[in-house]
Amino acid sequence: MAREFLKVECGECGNEQKIFSHPSTDVKCLVCNEVIAKSTGGKAELHGNIIQELEVE
Ligand SMILES: [Zn+2]
Repeated sequence: MAREFLKVECGECGNEQKIFSHPSTDVKCLVCNEVIAKSTGGKAELHGNIIQELEVE
């Protein structure tokens, strides 16, 4: 199964961060500490814009 990563721009400060598309815990922005990807048990609920989708096999 392919593992997906997303490059997301933080909705608060604009920092670009690479995150797992299905995180098991909430992912916070490394710059402003805002939660940019909320863990849902499936695909993350994003607070920000997807810059790029990266697929890793
Ligand atoms: Zn931020």
